[in-house]
Order: sequence, then structure tokens, then C-alpha cells
Amino acid sequence: MNIALMAHDSKKELMVQFCIAYCGILSRHKLCATGTTGKMVAEATGLQIMRYLSGSQGGDQQISARISCDEIDLLLFFRDPMTEKSHEQNEIDLFRLCDMRNIPVATNIATAEVLIHGLERGDLDWRDILRSV
Ligand code: PGA
Repeated sequence: MNIALMAHDSKKELMVQFCIAYCGILSRHKLCATGTTGKMVAEATGLQIMRYLSGSQGGDQQISARISCDEIDLLLFFRDPMTEKSHEQNEIDLFRLCDMRNIPVATNIATAEVLIHGLERGDLDWRDILRSV
């Protein structure tokens, strides 16, 4: 599965801790991330991560483009609900594309835990099956 990782600044350390905790599962999948999130997770875990630009520089749009091409199976995007972002509209568009494509999305660690366990159990395998027909 192709998994995209993103985290706002105040949630990056949480994303790092999450990826350390689930490194074993994540290592069996293809990972991509926005710039700083990817750098921090890669340094902390040694996971191989395809890194895009920072969200504010268009990295969120790069991930959106991959979602449009049906190349992302799961988005883990730890959001800071308290701080307004200059590129907020891009993020709204990103979620819209996920809904169009039925991409499972976690915007907080509680949902991310549920999804990562589901991923491990094979609950998302239907995405591979759909792609192959
Ligand atoms: P970053 O981008 O991982 O490069 O910080 C994500 C964001 O803050 O939107």
C-alpha cells in the first residue's frame, strides 16, 4: 500500500512517535510525506520515505496529485485544529479528493491507530484488488 504522511508543526513530534511505534508495519509499505514531516520521521525511524515539498510550498498539492491518480491508499495527516494555515484551501482540496476516491484518512492519532491496525489486518486489501481489475 502507498501511505502518505503529513503533520502540522505542533503535531510533528506526535507523528514521529507514532511512526516509531508502528515502524514494523510501516516498513512493509511505500511511504511518502511532505518535506519536514518526512525528514523528521526518516531520521527517527530509518524508514525509506519519498519526500515532497513542504506543505506550505505545495507539498500538499503534490500529494493531492498522487491521490488524483489513485496512487495513495491511506493518508495520515495529523492536523493542528487551533492554528490557521496560509495553505488551508489546499488542505480542504486534499480532503475533498480523498472523499472522491474513498481514501481512508486519519487527521488525529486516535484514528491513525485504528487505521494502522486495520491495514495490518488486511482491511484495506480491497484497494489492491480494485486496482488490479
Ligand atoms: P511539512 O508540511 O511536513 O513540510 O511541514 C506539512 C505542513 O505543515 O502542512
